[in-house]
Amino acid sequence: MSVSTNCKVISISNQKGGTAKTTTACNLGYALAKQGYRVLLVDMDPQANLSMSCGIESPDELELSMSDILTIVMKGEELPLRQSYIHPTSISKVELGTGEKEYVLDIMPSNISLTITEINLRDEMGGEHTLKSLLDPMRADYDYIIIDTNPYLGLLTINALAACDEVLIPVSAQYWSATGLTDLLQTIFKVKRKLNRGIEVGGILLTICDERTKLYREARSLLDTSYGDKIKIFNTIIPATVKVGEANYMSKSVVEYEPNSKAAIAYVALAKELTENSSAGEGDADGETEA
Ligand code: ADP
Ligand code: MG
Repeated sequence: MSVSTNCKVISISNQKGGTAKTTTACNLGYALAKQGYRVLLVDMDPQANLSMSCGIESPDELELSMSDILTIVMKGEELPLRQSYIHPTSISKVELGTGEKEYVLDIMPSNISLTITEINLRDEMGGEHTLKSLLDPMRADYDYIIIDTNPYLGLLTINALAACDEVLIPVSAQYWSATGLTDLLQTIFKVKRKLNRGIEVGGILLTICDERTKLYREARSLLDTSYGDKIKIFNTIIPATVKVGEANYMSKSVVEYEPNSKAAIAYVALAKELTENSSAGEGDADGETEA
């Protein structure tokens, strides 16, 4: 596998709950890994839904979680070995004859202790850059680092925004909120001014869509008229399907659980759309990307 210096760090953020942030982090990660990219998923939500979707059954029993690691970084102490806090997922466990991983999809899990870390980050000088300090050295080993954030514009999300290259904003067509989106964009621009000049809005992703409904059509047209000329709105939309809930229940991505479902197909298409616009992971393992 080639070593890419073009790692892209993507924060999946929207301070509204239930917009499919975690579902998007999990499925986009899975789809990118299946396409041959080396992917690290980072759980910055104390609720640890992403960790559980990635097979971490009892996040609260982890010996080392995101909270411990961020605390070590804050104190400037030496980090433990990566394999003690970064775990392989079900697909990265597949080994080839050579012992090399066939797919790379790793997870850095969190748990409820992250709520305490968020409070401690407030008292730390430069606390906003703690996650960035942790992730920057990992860029050499992954093509994509995908951060799932919590539904709150607090210091955990600010850490993700300070650490990322771009923000992917999932917007639920069912619970559309124009005010929420404006607040988020203002925060991103503030982060750009004060913490991370390189941050870009990667795009708005419409999730949980039922194209037959008036609600969907209204959300779509409001998005197009209010933001269409300023921000990329992904061509791919994620349809609503019960398969997503079923997959969550089985602690799996829907791409793995039901690859032929509408949502799985859409997440694979999203991964393609994302990589077509990006230089990350050039020359990936299976040569699927065009020369
Ligand atoms: P967030 O992380 O933004 O809070 P989640 O990814 O946890 O959102 O999704 C919120 C809820 O919506 C979950 O119950 C999830 O199963 C459901 N959901 C997400 N995407 C879809 C979809 N495409 N179709 C149907 N339900 C979905
Ligand atoms: Mg979530």
